[in-house]
Amino acid sequence: MPNIQVLDPHVADLIAAGEVVERPASVAKELMENAIDAGAKKVTVEIANGGMTLIRVTDDGCGMAADQLQTAFLRHATSKLRTEYDLEAIGTLGFRGEALAAICAVARIDVMTRTPGAPFGASLSLEGGIAGTVEEAGCPEGTTMVVRDLFFNTPARQKFMKKDAAEGAAVFAVVQRLALAHPEVSVKFIRDGKQELLTPGDGKLQSAIYAVLGRDLALGFKEVTGSGEDMSVSGFVTLPVCCKASRNYQHFFVNGRYVKSRIMTAALEEAYANQRMVGKFPGCVLHLTIKLSCVDVNVHPTKTEVKFTNERQVFSAVYHAVLNALTGDRSHPTAVLEKPKAHDTVTPNQIKLNATPIPAAKPVATSLPLHDFAAPRAPSAQTAPAQKPAAPVRAPKPVDVVWEKPPVPKMEPKPAPKVEPAVQVPPSAPEQPVTVQESWKIVGELFRTYVLVEQGDKVLLVDKHAAHERMNFDRMKAEGYKPMMQTLLTPLTFTPAAQERSVLADNLPLLTEFGFEVEEFGTGALIVRQAPFDVDEGDIVATLTEIAAKLLSAGRADPDAARDELLHTMACKAAIKGGWKSGPQELERVVQAVMDGSVKYCPHGRPVAIELTKKDLEKQFKRA
Ligand code: ADP
Ligand code: MG
Repeated sequence: MPNIQVLDPHVADLIAAGEVVERPASVAKELMENAIDAGAKKVTVEIANGGMTLIRVTDDGCGMAADQLQTAFLRHATSKLRTEYDLEAIGTLGFRGEALAAICAVARIDVMTRTPGAPFGASLSLEGGIAGTVEEAGCPEGTTMVVRDLFFNTPARQKFMKKDAAEGAAVFAVVQRLALAHPEVSVKFIRDGKQELLTPGDGKLQSAIYAVLGRDLALGFKEVTGSGEDMSVSGFVTLPVCCKASRNYQHFFVNGRYVKSRIMTAALEEAYANQRMVGKFPGCVLHLTIKLSCVDVNVHPTKTEVKFTNERQVFSAVYHAVLNALTGDRSHPTAVLEKPKAHDTVTPNQIKLNATPIPAAKPVATSLPLHDFAAPRAPSAQTAPAQKPAAPVRAPKPVDVVWEKPPVPKMEPKPAPKVEPAVQVPPSAPEQPVTVQESWKIVGELFRTYVLVEQGDKVLLVDKHAAHERMNFDRMKAEGYKPMMQTLLTPLTFTPAAQERSVLADNLPLLTEFGFEVEEFGTGALIVRQAPFDVDEGDIVATLTEIAAKLLSAGRADPDAARDELLHTMACKAAIKGGWKSGPQELERVVQAVMDGSVKYCPHGRPVAIELTKKDLEKQFKRA
């Protein structure tokens, strides 16, 4: 029989320490949090060898009295909590009273501290959980904690540490988060003798962002403010064109604490629904200030997870605040004509049009020829080989059709069942502020793709397909998709890949909603009897294949997520294409929607317009 015993306190301490102190970054985090709780205005973090040999945190906070210094390092010793009721409203970053005990169990510590106005300070050294004696010391007001030789007495832990560079980077990430969480504190970071960060501590989030995330990202940020019951939201988010390839640029804070929050992430990303590119994620620095009793921070030893009493309210507050900021944004990305100088990087909201400077140029014709509106639209794409046995008979598409295409003779159009818009968690988008619009005119079209619009001192290039696709998508989403279906005179059979075939076959009713009447046909083939009028006949197979891919990637678990994706496809198919001739009213309507701000990004997050100023052109022609 194994012998059951209560653990030796030293071993128990080491186990407890393991939960709080995982790596140098956790030490830096706890020490910085203590500094901020102590009311510091300036905090300096210095590390050597990724923090393994040295972490020094210096603050100008309230310090500790000499006679309490040893107590601070005992387990469950804290000045931040008294009773169980205090746990229901925690306003400090620390409260568990275990960080200092945990750190000193696995490292060597020197601390120096002086309370404001005290004639002198106190110092204390500790090693592996054993404290020395407190001595009088000459030191500035505030506290300096020096942690050396982390895990010197737990070699097993040491083995898990990554290279110094990686541990140092993790410490830096912690410092950056604290700096973003507390713009009122000036934060300095020194790695191996080199200063890598200094925030001004002027209380402005924007200054902290500029220092931490850099100018480029800061310029692509849009300010967010909003509120809900017992809470307010503030901060910055990236514009949809500036979305990033990962979620690493998402920083959420709750009452000044950096948190990982599933609910806040979901709310943020929902606000970008249908205006960011696939695989791109918004970046943000978002602060939620919430009544202390509405959030529980005591759910994890490292305190980076929180629980909200009312998750829906948090979701809604964050979602609406972000959506408001995005809706209120009326800017278009600007075109950069000149080659950027070394110090002059292209900011996220700029699009490089031409990286090479145009040499002092021969004058070029300045008035663009108006295109021939009456010419017929290019014929539809070639019939794909997959479409055997015979190309179905269809009338050619009418020229200059505007939006609702009329039924064509020989077809049997009939509306398919209405597709309800996917359930949107929170209701209505916020009202658009009414602004007086400067008059504009269409001066031409480039490559039958970009509509050239002159407005005051600037020129806009509108991507007619992207803009129209967005208009279609918004309409379909608001009204439900009501595809006009037409029966193919000769049904079309095709044999997709097995996976695609099975996902399409599993979703035949959904396909009908989207205007395709499809049946299984023999082994491995599908037969299409009806298709939406919007889809070019030569494009039916490609469209169904695209739909299959979307259904597969959405996963069968969530048909509503797939629905939006399918609407993207249908919006795209129903849109005027780049390269097509378009009628003047058609272009007018598209441009109108862009100019009045109702259309900004295509459903995949690409911009619908970019902007150039007269001044930019004058510079290129050396007139200015
Ligand atoms: P907690 O922060 O959860 O209270 P800690 O172990 O981190 O627990 O710290 C214990 C106590 O030591 C704190 O409650 C605080 O009173 C004191 N303390 C720690 N660091 C500092 C500091 N930098 N300045 C002033 N007091 C501090
Ligand atoms: Mg603490």
